[in-house]
Amino acid sequence: MATDDIALPDGADGRPLVSVSPPAPADATRLGRADLHLHTNLGDGTASPARVLGEARRRELDVIAVTDHDHMEGAKRLADLLANESPDVSAAQPIEMIWGCEITTRQGHFIGLFLREPVKMLRHVEESIDAVKAQGGLCVVPHPLGRLVPSLSRRKIDELLDRGYALDGIELYNPSPANAGARSTVRELNGQWGLSATGGSDAHFWQHIGAAYTLLSEGGQERPPERLPIGAYVLQCGWSWFVDPPRKIARMIRQREQRA
Ligand SMILES: [Zn+2]
Ligand SMILES: [Zn+2]
Repeated sequence: MATDDIALPDGADGRPLVSVSPPAPADATRLGRADLHLHTNLGDGTASPARVLGEARRRELDVIAVTDHDHMEGAKRLADLLANESPDVSAAQPIEMIWGCEITTRQGHFIGLFLREPVKMLRHVEESIDAVKAQGGLCVVPHPLGRLVPSLSRRKIDELLDRGYALDGIELYNPSPANAGARSTVRELNGQWGLSATGGSDAHFWQHIGAAYTLLSEGGQERPPERLPIGAYVLQCGWSWFVDPPRKIARMIRQREQRA
């Protein structure tokens, strides 16, 4: 194991997984679920891409982002699996994969989503943001203010925003016990930062896949679903119904669907 997320997750020794996401609302069945932070065994995770895909389906996820550290081999393998599976399987439970990468920057981990290639590691986070943007990707801050894993600090996030760096999202829910201490602080700070909230499991073990997720809902109150084009979703963080929906991520998924 690398140093990321060093606490042993629940269920890693075969015990049943204790759900860490708050219960979904009664009408959650019609909402899509996206786990936007996942690792495979081509990185420092323990689950093969096939296992990740199988487990994602078993947990009824609709979108998964494969975000191995500093490379995209796991994402590539999973994309191959999806491309080669029988149409019956895809039709029965369609699943969308986002090509992602958790980049090791000098200031802490940083996630790029919708990438075409990995971003160079061990540079300043500003350079990583530029590199993600150059690929047309989205920037998400994982486990913000986390103390046990290399994470962007409050000061760094403040500074980036002050200097006009376009952060797209912030992981307000990451179930790792290493992040539990910062959770309420981050939630409060994001009241000022106003970044789109995401939830991601950061799963390094199959048992944790889907332990946190971002909900995809159809439209917000101000935009009735019928006015949105088909496939338009507003993402809403799985643990709360009141956070600002990360619309940009929804838009990117939609654009990808249209290109396909
Ligand atoms: Zn990390
Ligand atoms: Zn991670």
